Amino acid sequence: MKALVYKGPGQKSWEEVPNPAILQPTDIIVKIDTTTICGTDLHILKGHVPTVEVGRILGHEGVGTVTELGAAVTSLKLGDQVILSCVSACGHCSYCKLGVYSHCLADEGASGIGWILGHLIDGTQAEFVRVPFAETSVYLLPENVTPQQGTVLSDILPTGHEIGVKYGRVKAGDVVAVVGAGPVGLAAIATAGLYGPSRIIAIDLDANRVEEARKFGATDTVVSSDADWKKQVLAMTDGLGVDVAIEAVGIPQTFTMCLDIVRPAGAVANVGVHSKSVDFPLQDLWISNINISMGLVNTDTLDILLKLVAQKKIVAENFVSHTFELGDIIEAYDVFGRAAETKALKVLLNA
Ligand code: NAD
Ligand code: ZN
Repeated sequence: MKALVYKGPGQKSWEEVPNPAILQPTDIIVKIDTTTICGTDLHILKGHVPTVEVGRILGHEGVGTVTELGAAVTSLKLGDQVILSCVSACGHCSYCKLGVYSHCLADEGASGIGWILGHLIDGTQAEFVRVPFAETSVYLLPENVTPQQGTVLSDILPTGHEIGVKYGRVKAGDVVAVVGAGPVGLAAIATAGLYGPSRIIAIDLDANRVEEARKFGATDTVVSSDADWKKQVLAMTDGLGVDVAIEAVGIPQTFTMCLDIVRPAGAVANVGVHSKSVDFPLQDLWISNINISMGLVNTDTLDILLKLVAQKKIVAENFVSHTFELGDIIEAYDVFGRAAETKALKVLLNA
């Protein structure tokens, strides 16, 4: 089969590789129908995620059709079209029991932080993928949801919701600021709206991105390259600061921006994947009573978000800016990597 292979920092190749095989009785093999490129793939390609080895097939989002079943898989059948969670989890180890599925301890010889597709195991930017622990890691695609809509449920929608909105404890009446209006920030905006906040402020360097955010439910926009961006945010909160600041970029500067605009006893929910230390001025922060959270998505809310997508309460297609054939993935990476120019949001690849 053909797959997108990580060749070391700055290098990738779309090349012929062996087809995946069932290794454990709980595995399935899925033929990819739709996959995408994520901001995290760009971090990996820059060499910022050293746990990803050279030779790894990238990609952790997708919808596909079951083509092989491990002997222990009874709740799925050949031909089922399924949404793949970006993290596979056994469902019964001590972390899975705590609901921290992204840290699943089930060991297949390797060890580390769970079973993220395209990270410690091969991923979805390929014609076929092996999915471990399939019964607890894939979701049947309902008839009224297309593979293209379903693909945003693999990662970005649960990530914005779980690590941004839920960890930030967004509640009715809150003023929520989301720093970074890329696909993940937009997912946080779209899902924050489900909780009835009074304002959702989209903040991005890119004026086009913040305008785009209105489609997802942002009520206010701030362009962070404006010298007075912070004054603009504070003016929206009677000078108090926001209740919840969600970081959806992954650089030290935007984490600091969140600390700068949160009110005392508010929350900063960091979603971004960071590759550098951030400035953490505990000598100033200790007095603020703020709650700071972070983490890897668990996709434990994928099911409920899928229902909301099916009911059109979340408009999944709003996330998609470009669609390519899977074989044109190198061109798709180029378009996604130049998002400021190409206005790329989610770039889909159809097999
Ligand atoms: P993206 O790169 O497409 O979007 C980032 C956005 O941030 C862009 O719109 C960009 O203009 C904006 N930005 C950059 N610098 C800024 C600044 N100084 N001020 C304001 N805005 C700025 O990324 P994405 O796909 O939306 O992902 C966002 C982050 O979430 C990434 O770090 C990604 O790796 C991470 N992520 C985390 C998890 C998790 O489990 N925690 C899962 C998936 C993705
Ligand atoms: Zn587990």
